[in-house]
Amino acid sequence: MDRRNFFKIVSTVSGAVATNACGDKKPLIPLLVPENGIVLGEEQWHPAICTECGAGCSTIVRVMAGERVIERGEEKFRERIASIKKIEGNPLDPVSGGRLCARGQAALQSLYNPDRLRGPMRRDGARGEAKFKAVSWNEALKSVAEKLKAYSGDQILFLTNAPQGTRALTIQRFLEALNAPPARTCGVGDFALERKAAEWVFGWKGAPVYDLAHARYVLGVGADFLGGWLSPVYYSRQFGEFRQGRSGVRGHLVQAESRMSLTAASADEWLPVRPGSEPHLIVALSRMLLDEKPPGRLPDGVAQSIRAADLSALIRTCGIEEKRLRGIAHELGQSEAPLVIAGASVVQSNSFEALVAAYYLNALLGARGVLPPQPEPPSAPITGNVLEAMKRAKVLFLDGENPAYVLRAAQSLDALDIIVSFGSFLDDSAAYADVLLPAHHALESEAAVVPLGMVGVAVTQPFVRPLYDTRPIGQILGHLGVNFEAVNVKDYVAPMLPPEETWDNVARQGGYWKQNSGEAKITAKDVKWSDPVFAGKPEEFPLHFQPYLSLQFHDGRGANLPWMQELPDPVSSAMWGLPAEMDPKTAANLKIANGDWIRVESESGHLEAPVYVHPAALPGVVSMAIGEGHTHYGRYASARGANPLAIVSPMWDEAAGEFAFGATRVRVAKLERKPALIQFSPQDREQGPWGQR
Ligand code: SF4
Repeated sequence: MDRRNFFKIVSTVSGAVATNACGDKKPLIPLLVPENGIVLGEEQWHPAICTECGAGCSTIVRVMAGERVIERGEEKFRERIASIKKIEGNPLDPVSGGRLCARGQAALQSLYNPDRLRGPMRRDGARGEAKFKAVSWNEALKSVAEKLKAYSGDQILFLTNAPQGTRALTIQRFLEALNAPPARTCGVGDFALERKAAEWVFGWKGAPVYDLAHARYVLGVGADFLGGWLSPVYYSRQFGEFRQGRSGVRGHLVQAESRMSLTAASADEWLPVRPGSEPHLIVALSRMLLDEKPPGRLPDGVAQSIRAADLSALIRTCGIEEKRLRGIAHELGQSEAPLVIAGASVVQSNSFEALVAAYYLNALLGARGVLPPQPEPPSAPITGNVLEAMKRAKVLFLDGENPAYVLRAAQSLDALDIIVSFGSFLDDSAAYADVLLPAHHALESEAAVVPLGMVGVAVTQPFVRPLYDTRPIGQILGHLGVNFEAVNVKDYVAPMLPPEETWDNVARQGGYWKQNSGEAKITAKDVKWSDPVFAGKPEEFPLHFQPYLSLQFHDGRGANLPWMQELPDPVSSAMWGLPAEMDPKTAANLKIANGDWIRVESESGHLEAPVYVHPAALPGVVSMAIGEGHTHYGRYASARGANPLAIVSPMWDEAAGEFAFGATRVRVAKLERKPALIQFSPQDREQGPWGQR
């Protein structure tokens, strides 16, 4: 769809939008009597925003006449509604470019999920029992407002995964009015390390943007940019350009990761580095390059430190042949458009050092593809050790974050005086809440979202009536006895626009965007690399354990969407329950075959899961996607599979203070149970057990 046609479609329907979306009281019509507001069979397309992760993709949604069944006493009624039938990428948005990832498509199943909370509720059982009873908004808000009066400062903790934009700023204003510290995130899937390293090296506030499309030779280190890292739709599109978008040029990708991720599987070469050896790999390559070429934009002190590095020790740590590394260093150095994309898809105790070293390597190469982000607004939630903050807190507000799932924080939740959840679902953490105050779904709300690192803002205005008795988040917070002003989308967006752009235009096209540009100027002067630290003695726990952000479930929030459960995993083709991946040699030693049940045990706990014997898994490394194993998360996700984060020890990246969820050692034992792995592809089943070949 081109820009002109898109405008035409949106502008011809915008009048109908206002009429249908404004929440006016529609009469209840007994079975099958149509209502005249929406023309049957006619579609409308409206701009919206995907909030299934923080990337901030702008979308367009197809709205048609639909109906819902509601109950009043003993009677059932069908009510005519404007319903969303399909979600696509907004072709005007340079992030999504008219495309979406699978989770973005499945956001529809979040809106119409049968397990959505219908209205406010109060706890009616013990903490964690997940027993609630419906109450009125007045009663629910009054009870929270009364209790809130007794607390201030860091007794109040607000956890949110709201992307930067109107929601995050509204929360910030609410907390400032309460004299409480800024909101925080749980630390999985928030890419805090990428942002902190960019701030350290360049002084930037935000995650850098990589111009992959114009690079010719790319080294990816630890960043599964086609899977669950940062902005998967943006980088998938960039990858398409990198490979096929230029006549006669095919970009070459070398991917270094300790798991064969989707990106590694799509690369020309995969470097299977040992877990936590990413800084060593990058410094080794830098050291080799410094033998071949001048230091470029590398600060003198950094160049000296790298020259003094013990190359043999670095190579030994990462476990890749020297000859192979020298070849890659040479090719990188010779490329006319080299680029290093480093990330922490699996956070280790030294991931910050890897990211810093990668930014320096780009400077040494003279790479031009590291672009400054749009500076993050001051409302960006702070990251770091949330468990410590929870110890000090008495009041916890939950807005999309799930500490009971991500941080095994059930005990800490139990110790709080009051927990309030604004989420649309009763998840593992909301099960501990005292009051549930469900806010409108993102597809029912007005909002502005700043895409991760990109210059611009995506905008959405309501176009379907809220399905249930929910409220806008600003309105809920505004009724908790705190004097503050919720953020208005137009007021938020207007100051970001250049003089030639109008609010009406931005609202109609779904946002305003500009290409990132500018130079990466280094302000830091230091480089470090330290050996990774792991929880668990190698003698007792001989294997590394790597939970990772998956395409389907991200940090676990996608698990309640049946399309995501049904989507075959790109590696194992497993559905409705993801397995632990293990290499054939380790599996053979333990007499484990594909589909067997295993017990994975760490210092901090154990889980049971089916195993996928992955021919390309790194020997001694067990990997598992984050997402399954919820105690509570609706009918599709509750008590399904195992939560890999439940056995992760509380380790932290030492330089940046972030949750190092990849720094745990485990041992594995076979369980005597029937194979339970459901795979879409019969190939693995036909090949038979790996351990017996
Ligand atoms: S990357 Fe996918 S889940 Fe994230 S905002 Fe874009 S479409 Fe949504």
